Amino acid sequence: MKKHNFYAGPSILPEYTKEKTAEAVLNFAGTGLSVMEVSHRSKEFVAVVDEAVALVKELLKVPEGYSVLFLQGGASLQFLMAPYNLMGLKAAYLNTGVWSKKAMKEAKFFGEVVEVASSADANFNYIPKQFDTPADASYLHYTSNNTIFGTKVNAPEANVPLVADMSSDIFSRPVDVAKHDLIYAGAQKNLGPSGATLVIVKDEALGKIDRVIPTMLDYRIHIQNESMFNTPSTLPVFACLQTLRWLKELGGVEAIEKINIEKAAVLYDEIDRNKLFQSTVPNKEDRSLMNVTFVMAPEFAELEKEFLDFATAKGMIGIKGHRSVGGFRASTYNAMPIESVQALVDTMQEFEKKH
Ligand code: PMP
Repeated sequence: MKKHNFYAGPSILPEYTKEKTAEAVLNFAGTGLSVMEVSHRSKEFVAVVDEAVALVKELLKVPEGYSVLFLQGGASLQFLMAPYNLMGLKAAYLNTGVWSKKAMKEAKFFGEVVEVASSADANFNYIPKQFDTPADASYLHYTSNNTIFGTKVNAPEANVPLVADMSSDIFSRPVDVAKHDLIYAGAQKNLGPSGATLVIVKDEALGKIDRVIPTMLDYRIHIQNESMFNTPSTLPVFACLQTLRWLKELGGVEAIEKINIEKAAVLYDEIDRNKLFQSTVPNKEDRSLMNVTFVMAPEFAELEKEFLDFATAKGMIGIKGHRSVGGFRASTYNAMPIESVQALVDTMQEFEKKH
């Protein structure tokens, strides 16, 4: 039976990425060696990093004056590295859920964290839009897509530079990089396997604060060493490159955004139509294109386990919702074909007929 991979991360990758990576595990770039067993400083591997950096710049239209890095430690280490490198006395954070809160926790080690707005009052089911950012904050941090709560944030208007955690929607839609001092993302959703972290940082924003930064946590060190201050995660970075090539071939972020909007619409329309289910995000413009969260309608609450079992039996993998929201979460990342979304919709309709 066909398996439809709705996991939130690590999650579905393009067939192209898996095939090319599998080939390179056996024979990388004609070296007769595995990509896992060549030096990161070999000319073949340096070419991988160079091409990946160039493709990130091309696909996201990264302006001059920004550096692209492939680091390790996940987005969680970026929660710390961002304030370490960029925060003076104060930084502003938009609190839209679990990942924003974790980012704020790390920033508090360095100074005053101003929570400009929060949607905690409604279990993060909407995006606050009206708020003021203190002019003396070093930056405003936001989470562009809330993987757990199924909401998305458009780059906020602010009078200070932006810092964004784009872990779960990077490359899913265009982004105005110039508004940002820093963008970071764990690779394991739209890019590759876990183990690599993408960082896009404005060179000019660095070196401005009066703080000793440990070597491994200093973006400038990684920039000077072109992501090779220490051994990069070679296999994940190789896989990331394959996904970037795949995305370019497909027409880039503008093309994939159209597909993502279409895919999400198919699913949200069914959730809104089907009497058994309801979206957890009432405001349509706040609904994520990557993580579609929904629950049983209150009068059908007792059917939750039955639907999960029914859908699992039909090949729907990973649709159990995060414990802080409950219900279901179908992640529809770039690599997910619309056929899989349609298969889930068919399953929901079949389940409705049974009840
Ligand atoms: N931010 C967001 C939006 C996420 O979805 C995740 C992981 N799912 C993280 C941060 C944490 O990423 P990592 O596990 O790579 O540290």
